[in-house]
Amino acid sequence: MKHISILGSTGSIGTQTLEVAENNGDIQVTALAAGQNIQLLEKQIRKFHPVLACVWDEDKARELRIKTADLPVRIVSGMEGLLEAATEPSAQIVVTAIVGMIGIRPTIAAMEAGKDIALANKETLVTAGHIIMPLARERGVRILPVDSEHSAIFQCLKGEDERGIHKILLTASGGPFRGKTRKEMETVTVEDALKHPNWSMGRKITIDSSTMVNKGLEVMEAKWLFGVEMDQVQVVVQPKSIIHSMVEFDDGAVMAQLGTPDMKLPIQYALYYPERRFLPGERLDFWRLNQIAFEKPDFANFRGLLLAYRAGKRGGSLTTVFNAANEWAVNEFLNRRISYLDITDRIERAMEEHKVSDNPSVEDILEAEAWTYELLSGAGQL
Ligand code: NDP
Repeated sequence: MKHISILGSTGSIGTQTLEVAENNGDIQVTALAAGQNIQLLEKQIRKFHPVLACVWDEDKARELRIKTADLPVRIVSGMEGLLEAATEPSAQIVVTAIVGMIGIRPTIAAMEAGKDIALANKETLVTAGHIIMPLARERGVRILPVDSEHSAIFQCLKGEDERGIHKILLTASGGPFRGKTRKEMETVTVEDALKHPNWSMGRKITIDSSTMVNKGLEVMEAKWLFGVEMDQVQVVVQPKSIIHSMVEFDDGAVMAQLGTPDMKLPIQYALYYPERRFLPGERLDFWRLNQIAFEKPDFANFRGLLLAYRAGKRGGSLTTVFNAANEWAVNEFLNRRISYLDITDRIERAMEEHKVSDNPSVEDILEAEAWTYELLSGAGQL
């Protein structure tokens, strides 16, 4: 029996992780954490019987305590609660499926408590990779990637010596606006941006995929996970999302991982690594596939990717500012307070204004996040 905790259990990755647990039947869920969706969280508690559940909002937590009074589950709230969920003693693996930089502290706490991390929350590595990766080595815990591209790279590297990596070929679908100019994207609405061609995901990452900021975050995530330089990570647009990523080795050999777009594969692979289990679902049919097309990424019209390379190469607190400005701007866009193109404009503005500090501590990272929010909120009509 495997024991896991899921931070962000009510989201896209969280619910698919629970599906994997249910399909396999030998996973015990020990703790769950969500932001505010207590209706779904209650259902999950009744089905999976965790000993602990966390709701960010204390009022909602109180409501949930009443609803689950007949069950032997302890309901906690806020950051203290999230840290408890991350460190619940019986869990071996913590799935970090929470969205945003709020995932940093619980991830660190879980690692300090000796848990392996099934990492979906890329924001943690983007902003604190220089803390997370050495900590994993020091504590002897594994960081198992859940992001499909990083899982693909991880699978390609199995049995290989990472020193032989020449470059990582990170595939991208290009999102719903592939081929469009900035001028053509001026009128993009929230509804347009929420239509991803291949993947069904949470709202924030769907917007990030459309701007290619998500790919930028993934380049930084790959840099930390696989110990390479930003320039060794090359983005390759492959619109159908069949190749999930590739690794080119020093001898010129290229290894790729292919499959239908289904997040349950990387989730299950992370939970059972190095074992492979049967996964029901659609399989690749090469006769129907007949061709796979590739394109260069369009850095001129998708400035988010360009800015991500700039942030990742400079490093320090600049990656936090990139990420926090994006989180702020995506939220504003989803609430229809700024336009689509404003998202990358605000990221660029915040990066330009920021005085970078090297090797930031967790406190410095959270300060840089607060600085970015203050700058952008105060900036009004930039
Ligand atoms: P969703 O928006 O679907 O889910 C986010 C989850 O986080 C929800 O359970 C939400 O709870 C919870 N949450 C938000 N704020 C808090 C908080 N303060 N405390 C506790 N829980 C909170 O996101 P996704 O599942 O799409 O993405 C999650 C992470 O995984 C992101 O970092 C994303 O980049 C990454 N990822 C996602 C992929 C995907 O296919 N979806 C692929 C690869 C990576 P509630 O709903 O109750 O508010």
